[in-house]
Amino acid sequence: MRVGILALLQESNTFISGKTSLKHFQQDVLLTGEDIRQHFEQAPHEIGGFFQGLKKAGIEAVPIFAARAYPNGIIEASTFDLLVKQMMEGLEAAGSLDGILAAPHGATVAENHPDADGFWLGKVRDFIGLDKPLIATLDLHANLSRAMVDSTNALIAYRSNPHLDQLETGLRAADLMARTLSGSIYPCQAAAFPSLAINIQNQNTNEYPLSSFYAQINAASNGPDVISHSTLLGFPYADVAEMGSSAIVVTDDQPEQAQEMAWAIERKFLTEKDEFEPEFISVEAAIEEIVANPETRFTLLDMGDNVGGGSPADSSILLHALHDKKIANSFVCLFDPVAVKTASSVMIGEHVDLSIGAHTDEQHGTPLECNVKLLSLHDGKFSESKARHGGFTNFDQGPTAIVKCSSGCTVMLTSKRIPPFSLAQLTSCDLDPSNFRVFIAKGVIAPQAAYRDVCDRFIQVNTPGATCADMTQLDFKNRRRPMFPFEK
Ligand SMILES: [Zn+2]
Repeated sequence: MRVGILALLQESNTFISGKTSLKHFQQDVLLTGEDIRQHFEQAPHEIGGFFQGLKKAGIEAVPIFAARAYPNGIIEASTFDLLVKQMMEGLEAAGSLDGILAAPHGATVAENHPDADGFWLGKVRDFIGLDKPLIATLDLHANLSRAMVDSTNALIAYRSNPHLDQLETGLRAADLMARTLSGSIYPCQAAAFPSLAINIQNQNTNEYPLSSFYAQINAASNGPDVISHSTLLGFPYADVAEMGSSAIVVTDDQPEQAQEMAWAIERKFLTEKDEFEPEFISVEAAIEEIVANPETRFTLLDMGDNVGGGSPADSSILLHALHDKKIANSFVCLFDPVAVKTASSVMIGEHVDLSIGAHTDEQHGTPLECNVKLLSLHDGKFSESKARHGGFTNFDQGPTAIVKCSSGCTVMLTSKRIPPFSLAQLTSCDLDPSNFRVFIAKGVIAPQAAYRDVCDRFIQVNTPGATCADMTQLDFKNRRRPMFPFEK
């Protein structure tokens, strides 16, 4: 038995002006053939799970195509066409296959195909025909479409946010493939699409309301013929028809049972919808908490500049707030290639005037004009060995400068945009996280997997920006209507 492996992963924010191009994939992952095995086989990622699970089942894994880029704007049409062309050429060249394991993200938007995942899964289905199983994994933030469901035999989503079960999700998909190929099960799936968008602030699966919500669904969604059930949270920063929460149930040849269970999850979502409405915390309130609790170590989560949601990574709003209050022993990482260059022009230990951050657009504050001391310079490459959100293992943030402001804030300036998913980002630059009392992490849930080890409290701060917490402020044109919380 031979099973092909395909992956095309990117979370696309349609509310930012920048687009994702080929270079963004080249900066992270753009691989074919055996290079995919080398990159992912041991990674805490669903593709690692595909390899490991197929091996365990004695099935040959045939890596064909894998592309991944960090969350950003929509994918340019020419780039998306090229990626799909490469994928399909790889599929044609792969020889006879018994099935396909695929890893779409589920919230990918291309300029020419708003439902990018549904489009390429449909192409793969057309190519392999109806008789061969196509089983795919999904990010918990997938905006599920009918096309994704119709193109696949089974879809299995992560169950945790921060995403720490990606390897396990890939293993489950590979096991399902093995059982399908052996003829011991016949997977069929059904989905439901509740008209509900869940605020990103309440998408932590370890906390109320989702922790109890998931526990109740797990208890209710069992039965001898249930193979898998997935409750997807959706990605609200995408103005597409499929934006929102959803449910997928896979049964062993019991289509009606699958549909009934998916509808039951939909009913539960709609009954409990008010529980998902967050209370926002202002920048001023967050700073007051920090000042009032000098012994407590905080991570401020910058919701408006959520890099894992596609934002520019250079908002200066929280930095200004800490700087103004002279909160010493604080840390922030900002994308600012110009400041890196300027800082690199002086000797270590010397001072230099910098204009820090807020260069991408007008939504993310104003640059902090500051005389800083250059502490160190680095190549910006680091790796993470533990399972962290996104399953990323190798990072490259480009040439990096560490500077200290007169207020005592330590600022890491990077030449490439990078989400704060790993503390190796600090330790690789000779920074000891235990020396800081306040961190700014540009994210909402995802950074918590890394930062929970070094702080006592997280505060999700309602900062303005491309990923602002209050999604009712975003100008949607294509989402379903009515939909909670936009229409009450
Ligand atoms: Zn996600």
